[in-house]
Amino acid sequence: KQKLLEVKNLHVSFFTPAGEVKAVNGISYDVDYDEVMGIVGESGSGKSVEAYSIIGLLQSPGKVMEGSITLEGEDMLAKSPSEMIDYRGSQVAMIFQNPMTCLNPVYTIGNQLTEALCAHDKSISKEEADKRAMEMLEQVGINNVEKRMKQYPHELSGGMRQRVMIAMGLICHPKLLIADEPTTALDVTIQAQILELMKELQKKNHMGIIFITHNLGVVAEVCDKVSVMYAGKMVEQGPVDDIFYQPGHPYTMGLLRSMPRVDAESYERLIPIEGTPVDMLNPPEGCPFAPRCEHAMKVCLQKMPPYVELGDNHRAACWLRVQDAINTQKEAQKKE
Ligand code: SF4
Ligand code: MG
Repeated sequence: KQKLLEVKNLHVSFFTPAGEVKAVNGISYDVDYDEVMGIVGESGSGKSVEAYSIIGLLQSPGKVMEGSITLEGEDMLAKSPSEMIDYRGSQVAMIFQNPMTCLNPVYTIGNQLTEALCAHDKSISKEEADKRAMEMLEQVGINNVEKRMKQYPHELSGGMRQRVMIAMGLICHPKLLIADEPTTALDVTIQAQILELMKELQKKNHMGIIFITHNLGVVAEVCDKVSVMYAGKMVEQGPVDDIFYQPGHPYTMGLLRSMPRVDAESYERLIPIEGTPVDMLNPPEGCPFAPRCEHAMKVCLQKMPPYVELGDNHRAACWLRVQDAINTQKEAQKKE
């Protein structure tokens, strides 16, 4: 059965004066209606880049080199820039960490919301657009909407701006919402409110959501499944419980170990695991995590590990898991 979004073997490179940087190096996943997929990784792991490719916002010198992206079976990479503009908002919407990147400081909230609507439906009347804008603001939990419609972004608090941005993203009922660290800049209470809100809106609209974050606490709270990225590679992928209780990749294990205990103050930050991130201009030949991995073996330095299936829809790319698989096979043969 066709999923809402299918990404297959995506490769994205940046051509810099110093050379080619393979920011996304062959990743595949799908996201269905009503599903939230978390993409986790440290900065520079390629998690934003791959999301920007879906929505046609990859900036030069970034280039999709290989692979496919389909939304409801439609080839997203074949669309022209103007077709993509139509798609954004009406089919796919994106919300960012900083609302000011998509709110225009010189327009009122009402203006921006109705503008977004009219861009996708030119036949809509001014009254109808206003009405829908106010309904949307109410849906994201904003009170006093008539007053808010006339205000400018700088007149609102950070949490309120975040809500307005979510309203902007959802006003045309997109099928897929991409949220790039949308709560990182907010305090913990407001973070929780925004996450709750996104889940509610998802239930109503049956959207698929891609949630990009470096915060595993948030992942546990909102995601159904998780992709863990490291140096442009998807090193592990699986249902959220598998990732938390039976991680198969040493990098995922490291992330979990470095996750602060559930004390709300330190909740927002992931303590980095030891070692230096990969030099993306000169990535290692084998497993990209090898320089930081306490289990690294000779083969790890020479060859990229293949994906090993660890359960239903759970896979990891690590030579240790390949070894496990071989051992299990041997055991089974002995018994026969
Ligand atoms: Fe560590 Fe080797 Fe597994 Fe990479 S493949 S994570 S270096 S054990
Ligand atoms: Mg990012």
